[in-house]
Amino acid sequence: MKFSSIKGMHDIGPPEVALWQRVERIAREVLEGAGFSELRTPVLEEEALFTQSVGNTTEIVEKEMYSFPDRKGKLLALRPEGTASAVRAYIEHYAAPGGAYQRFYYIGPMFRSERPQKGRYRQFFQIGAEVFASSHPFTDAEIIHLAHEIFQRLGIQGVILQLNSLGCKKCRPAYREALLQFLRPLASKLCEDCQRRLERNPLRILDCKKEGCIAATTGAPTVFDHLCEECWAHFEGVQQGLKRLKTPYEINPRMVRGLDYYERTAFEFLSGELGAQNSLAGGGRYDDLVKDLGGPPVPAVGFAIGMERLISLLPSQASQEGAGKKVYVACLGEAAQRELLPILSDLRRAGLTVMTDFDQGSLKSLLRQADRLGTDWVIIVGEDELKSGQAQVKAMKGEKGQTPVPLSGLLAYFQGKK
Ligand code: AMP
Repeated sequence: MKFSSIKGMHDIGPPEVALWQRVERIAREVLEGAGFSELRTPVLEEEALFTQSVGNTTEIVEKEMYSFPDRKGKLLALRPEGTASAVRAYIEHYAAPGGAYQRFYYIGPMFRSERPQKGRYRQFFQIGAEVFASSHPFTDAEIIHLAHEIFQRLGIQGVILQLNSLGCKKCRPAYREALLQFLRPLASKLCEDCQRRLERNPLRILDCKKEGCIAATTGAPTVFDHLCEECWAHFEGVQQGLKRLKTPYEINPRMVRGLDYYERTAFEFLSGELGAQNSLAGGGRYDDLVKDLGGPPVPAVGFAIGMERLISLLPSQASQEGAGKKVYVACLGEAAQRELLPILSDLRRAGLTVMTDFDQGSLKSLLRQADRLGTDWVIIVGEDELKSGQAQVKAMKGEKGQTPVPLSGLLAYFQGKK
């Protein structure tokens, strides 16, 4: 029986895993530099955590969750996103009775049973960040700026930031009502999903990508006609912060995001180079979610970046960057292997990447392998070199050539070359 990975779920190995490691390193640097601590939560949670947070009428919950009963019949789900788990962990371990200020980030796999296509997978990775117990609009601006900073540091160009305010519990009901009044007479023009959502979640219709729904909602009242004074002030504060942080944005009053818990700020980073799945990252404020999930009344804001999409946008030279110098040790014969075995370890301790293959005998095959692995130098030691006490060091990149180096001086020789 031959097995292959499950549809929409992929192995990540060499050479592209180097890109993943680079992205993770930069994300950690940026986020830890801003006082975020890593949070690692389980990939399995109670299903209800997601139905109650992401929302019963959202695509994610209605159609895409991997849910199943465990052996005792308890309903579990593979996490489709990271915020709900972060909130659950915050309430469980970190929230003081009145709420405690906390900054978390996470990097890990999420699961959605979507139809796989380019940029859309059933297991995909997100880098997410969440700030708990801050309602200040500059916190929103800062978190948006941090996502932008990760893209900048990775050399990703042409990303557009769209911003919106979704109002709050106070002002959204009136907007919802106005939208319903506008949409009800157009119901027959909406797609099946949107017809179903009309009474339950009309705002989502604005986000539908189907042509008929886009046409039907053209001219619909916008949230800006209904924002309360506090929401306006907050929205303006976020924009002021983004301007101070020199983070360019556009306002898109139709952008509502696919999760129900957002309030006030919602944002999305888009890239024209991603094709049909053009959303690189998204996020927003979720001021009622902690309370709704049984915690203290703590406002919060966060983002999630899709790693596969981020990696597909990396400039092509990125795979070469940051790789340490590589040395390949070609031992010809058992005596040479015995002699060089401890030197391999010494060189690694000195910070070099050192490889060999004890099962290859001929110099030709060893050199071929060294070339394939992209090594910078090959240390060649056979009987002659053992006798003379001098290894041959062959440069594989740049100015090629061979230099004799005493066996006892190999460490010193390479220490200068790291
Ligand atoms: P969301 O959690 O839906 O707000 O999505 C945040 C980001 O995760 C998106 O902007 C995408 O980059 C990424 N993402 C969401 N769903 C998928 C998927 N099925 N496959 C790959 N990336 C995804």
